[in-house]
Amino acid sequence: MNVKNPLQIVFTGSSIIALLLFAVLFTIHLSIDSIHWSVLVFAPLFTFIFSLITFYFFIKKLIDSRISVIYRTIRKEKLKGSDNVKSDMRKDVLGDLSKETKIWAEDRKEEISKLRAQEEFRKEFLGNLAHELKTPIFSIQGYILSLLEGGLEDPSVNREFLLRASKGVDRMTHIIEDLDDITRFESNRFELEVKTFDIVDLATEVIESVEFRAQNKNIKLGLNKDYDPIKVKADRAKISQVLTNLISNSISYGNENGKTEVRFHKLEDAILVEVADNGPGISEEHLSRLFERFYRVDKSRARNSGGSGLGLAIAKHIIESHGQDIDVRSTVGLGSTFSFTLEKA
Ligand code: ADP
Repeated sequence: MNVKNPLQIVFTGSSIIALLLFAVLFTIHLSIDSIHWSVLVFAPLFTFIFSLITFYFFIKKLIDSRISVIYRTIRKEKLKGSDNVKSDMRKDVLGDLSKETKIWAEDRKEEISKLRAQEEFRKEFLGNLAHELKTPIFSIQGYILSLLEGGLEDPSVNREFLLRASKGVDRMTHIIEDLDDITRFESNRFELEVKTFDIVDLATEVIESVEFRAQNKNIKLGLNKDYDPIKVKADRAKISQVLTNLISNSISYGNENGKTEVRFHKLEDAILVEVADNGPGISEEHLSRLFERFYRVDKSRARNSGGSGLGLAIAKHIIESHGQDIDVRSTVGLGSTFSFTLEKA
């Protein structure tokens, strides 16, 4: 028999008892003593009604108290005080409970694997951070020790050592600022100040601000042609941060006597901005991970370049918070092109 709900059990149980009673009374009626017809009818009927009420009451009480304990655990909503879940005896209470428990178990499994991934991520993040901070701290420590051990009195090195220690401090400040940025972006604790501005003008401004660094490596830096103003709608300061990072990277990782060009393409409802260099390029296997925090292609070289390893991760956050995309294409030996889109004004 396929039992679908508790009410069915109550009904079937009561019917069996009533029928049994009727059978016993009927047998007595036939073989031993005649029984009045009203007893034959009403005794089983009353027994049926009495069993129905009793079974209903006790089975409901049992189910309610048992499933309440389970529902208390699996349901997010809190049940008040000693309130029990009120089960509907006409429904497949246990089947529903089993389904809900299964879903709950799946959710917990998912939650646990998420927590594990977060734990992994936290460990990796702290490991990376410690590694990043070690380089400048060791360098500062080294120069201070050299100064203490006699360098301070040697006018040919004391100033130089102090300058180098100060560079280490700058480097640490840079890492801390980037960390602060990325934490704000990841916890959505920032607001975009979207305005209409000329992206050509902003790119020219950024190019001028890093021109000096490009000259040190004799890298030619500029727009690929003269552009009329191109108006975009975005947070100017944040887009400036993205452009500064991309152009600075092209200088840090670019070849001596190289070239970096900033280009603009008008798409249907967006502007595509490209920063293209003819540097060493990045091999395919690194491209998909390049925008991850602290991801570096050439670990030691990149760390010595002075970056925090967070620049591209921050750039990605900024562009994605504008609802736009950032991408990279690169060929080893030919160079890299980083590109992102902006909303046309
Ligand atoms: P970093 O502070 O190390 O520069 P980024 O997130 O800005 O951190 O860059 C991540 C890594 O991507 C760099 O360490 C470098 O290996 C690689 N990279 C970025 N831009 C370029 C580029 N233009 N050419 C070659 N490699 C690049």
